[in-house]
Amino acid sequence: MLKVVKFGGSSLADAEHFRKVRQIIEEDPARRYVVPSAPGKRFSADEKVTDLLYQCYYNKNDRQLFDETFQKITDRYMQIENDLGVDSGVREALEEIRYEMLFQGTSDYAASRGEYLNGRILAAYLGIPFVDAAKVIVFDENGKLNPALTEISLREKLRETERAVIPGFYGATPSGRIVTFSRGGSDITGSLVAVGVKADLYENWTDVSGCLKADPRVVKRATPISIVTYNELRELSYMGASVMHEEAIYPARQMNIPIQIMNTNKPEDPGTKIVARVTKEQIRERGIVTGIAGKRGFCIITLEKNMMHNEIGFGRKALSVLETNGLSFEHMPSGIDTLSLVMEERTIRDFDQLLADLTQACQTDSIEVIHHVSLIAVVGQGMAGQKGTAARIFTALAKADVNVMMFDQGSNEMNIIVAVDDEDFPAAVNAVYDEFE
Ligand code: ASP
Repeated sequence: MLKVVKFGGSSLADAEHFRKVRQIIEEDPARRYVVPSAPGKRFSADEKVTDLLYQCYYNKNDRQLFDETFQKITDRYMQIENDLGVDSGVREALEEIRYEMLFQGTSDYAASRGEYLNGRILAAYLGIPFVDAAKVIVFDENGKLNPALTEISLREKLRETERAVIPGFYGATPSGRIVTFSRGGSDITGSLVAVGVKADLYENWTDVSGCLKADPRVVKRATPISIVTYNELRELSYMGASVMHEEAIYPARQMNIPIQIMNTNKPEDPGTKIVARVTKEQIRERGIVTGIAGKRGFCIITLEKNMMHNEIGFGRKALSVLETNGLSFEHMPSGIDTLSLVMEERTIRDFDQLLADLTQACQTDSIEVIHHVSLIAVVGQGMAGQKGTAARIFTALAKADVNVMMFDQGSNEMNIIVAVDDEDFPAAVNAVYDEFE
């Protein structure tokens, strides 16, 4: 058994958390490769080291502000080192980083140092080798990840060492320029390392006991999902559930490596397992609905034209207007003489222009717009072939006095989407949650 373990920023925010992390790693000899984030928040008003590094970089022309912020970063790391009683040479490294940030480094370089320094401290504290991500995570000169070269580099480098700490979030181009992933990208590094060493499991340790069945800000008593497929998770995170960095799923999924989300502060909790397939037995245990996610801020634009059902090319004309305006749509339900476009409101820069373009291109009789629409996705592989699920959803919504403006079910029957007024959003999510609890 071989495991790659990634610890998020809140799991490595201070010495106390480093101690928990060491205990977790030492408890299981299979946990051989460790991917850390930069120190996150210790309390809600605290600052993440990555944010401080960006602040420093963008304020380097205001030397006083730069120095004040850099001092905060230095203090964070020195305190961790002192509390743990290790010396990983971070003080000297900070001197070099300060100089680089002021005179030549890029913003990616600056941001990456959070993980770099945390990785060095963690490696010293665990007493295992540190492998710089700049040597194994390969980006091309345009700043795009090169997954094939990354896999080879990781495999070759990590073959030399039984155990190692590899910092998350960054890599480098063949010419040595540091490139970071987008925010939260240490999850991606963890997934890539899991592929590189052909791990049996990728454990992602964070500060929640797994992926919850609904957003806890909306459904207070939401409990964790025990097991979820990559596809279900993709649907849930697309619709707003925050679990892992979206791009982190792909590498592990391609190699069929399961991912386990775990809580550093409650390691005894089972967490959430992300896998390719679930068995009938597992579906029976967890219920037919795996999770509910939702997003506000949509609008529905309905085009109406007499005899539309006879007109070939009407849909193409409407969609080509979206294409020329660089817009995408979420859903496109249609009636005999109507066609509706469900779109994310914030993506539409000039509403009047869009409506004028649609009227002109499609020669519509009228256009109607509904604003403040929320979409709710009820996701579950167990819904396929199961009768009565939609009926239960709609009955629950009706009982909660929620009007459904539109609904859509993908033909894979894994997902039922309903559109409701923004104001009904919490009531709707809670009603569906209660029904399938
Ligand atoms: N430290 C980076 C961030 O705050 C990357 C990560 O934590 O995954 O976004």
